[in-house]
Amino acid sequence: MPSGPFRIFAAMSTLRSVAILGGGPAGASLGARLAQAGVDVAIFDIGKRPEIVVGESLVPAVIPFLAELGIEEEVRAYSIYKPGATFVLRGGEEIMNLRFDTIRGAQTTYSYNTPRDQLDASILAAAERAGAEIVETTGRVEKTGEGERIRLSEESLRAADATFHGQQPDFIVDATGRRRTLAQLFDLETETGERRDMALHAHMEDVGLIERGNVHTDVLEHGWSWRIPLPGKVSVGLVVPFAELAKFGSTAEEQFDGYLASDRVIGQWKGRPRRITSVFKYTNYQLLTRRGFGPNWALLGDAFGFIDPVFSSGLLIGMDGARALAKALGAGATPEAMKRYEAWVIHHLETWQHVVDHFYNGRLFTLLQVGEVARSTRFGAILDLHFGRYLPRVFTGEASHGRYGPWLLDFMCRRALVDNDPAELAVT
Ligand SMILES: Cc1cc2nc3c(=O)[nH]c(=O)nc-3n(C[C@H](O)[C@H](O)[C@H](O)COP(=O)(O)OP(=O)(O)OC[C@H]3O[C@@H](n4cnc5c(N)ncnc54)[C@H](O)[C@@H]3O)c2cc1C
Repeated sequence: MPSGPFRIFAAMSTLRSVAILGGGPAGASLGARLAQAGVDVAIFDIGKRPEIVVGESLVPAVIPFLAELGIEEEVRAYSIYKPGATFVLRGGEEIMNLRFDTIRGAQTTYSYNTPRDQLDASILAAAERAGAEIVETTGRVEKTGEGERIRLSEESLRAADATFHGQQPDFIVDATGRRRTLAQLFDLETETGERRDMALHAHMEDVGLIERGNVHTDVLEHGWSWRIPLPGKVSVGLVVPFAELAKFGSTAEEQFDGYLASDRVIGQWKGRPRRITSVFKYTNYQLLTRRGFGPNWALLGDAFGFIDPVFSSGLLIGMDGARALAKALGAGATPEAMKRYEAWVIHHLETWQHVVDHFYNGRLFTLLQVGEVARSTRFGAILDLHFGRYLPRVFTGEASHGRYGPWLLDFMCRRALVDNDPAELAVT
């Protein structure tokens, strides 16, 4: 009988072996769950990571997943405690702070900003401790020729011989992140978001912060930036339309340094920011596949879909998806169970899509400002008892996969702005 926190497989009968392509947070979390439940698991992981990796700010709803994996203490030791989020609006004239410990009904009242290479290594090690084999090479798959079934290539099967003993695994999970291996193999229909931004990411020293530990989101003259405090440095990201960045040169470094020096809002940051790493460029990341599974495979994490860096939802969607997929596989990967998994992830992605859309179109912050004013009236204060319980918990991820909170937030953004023009707070 399986032991430990992941007991969902007690009734599992048919799936005995699973290959996972990609050992990022999503794939490794799934691997830990399956291995602990007694499934034979091999996680293919290329092993190499770039100098720095995006995804350093975690929402509070990720913390219970770290605790389940038994790595929260370890992660805390190399991370920065994150008590909340700070937003800089209207050219720096307005600052909004969200403290997680003031949110009514919150289950987790803090989070972490964390170096991603260390976090990924911790989750992968947890999977290994649970019994998964980590195969440090590229995992390759091919079509079998029977419908949409796939199998590991000969070479990959041999590489995972210690787990599969020459037999094809019962199931294969694509957790290859932005490589989206199976979406490419089957040419799966993919939706792209409306934004045409480029995200430029680097680590810097001497970057001033308004609230210690908080992730900072500044709405810039063009686009927005993040400041994520990490031990001894700050991760800085510029999410700016291509056309604006192209004015500063062709290399990522020219564009990052040039835009940073030119923007009026960034000019108000305290300190004398100095870049200490190369600059990494991300484009076309708003991608969502409408299909999440096939006869013997499933998509997970970014390989299924990713919406946008703002509000740091990526790791949550991946790790929450891993829990949902483990449950579906535990139910024998029946079509009904897999459809439930697919619908769960698509709903989660759609929720964040709405939140992100309302960030860019200005409705979200307009709503928060209307809320501030309304709270000062007696009727508004009564309403706030209700809204305050649901709306902030969508941002922390605790209510983002529910139905009511996301619906309420979307409804309020569309209908409750009174006479305020959201364009004033739009991100251009
Ligand atoms: C600009 C930007 C900023 C972001 N900021 C945040 C943030 O602050 N907070 C947050 O939560 N999320 C953030 N995200 C999203 C977050 O980085 C991703 O959602 C998250 O990393 C997804 O995890 P994953 O496990 O699905 O994929 P990944 O983290 O990409 O892991 C996949 C791994 O699989 C490996 N791999 C790929 N193909 C193969 C193969 N065939 N065989 C073996 N290994 C393979 C890759 O090398 C990689 O290590 C950001 C994203 C972007 C683009």
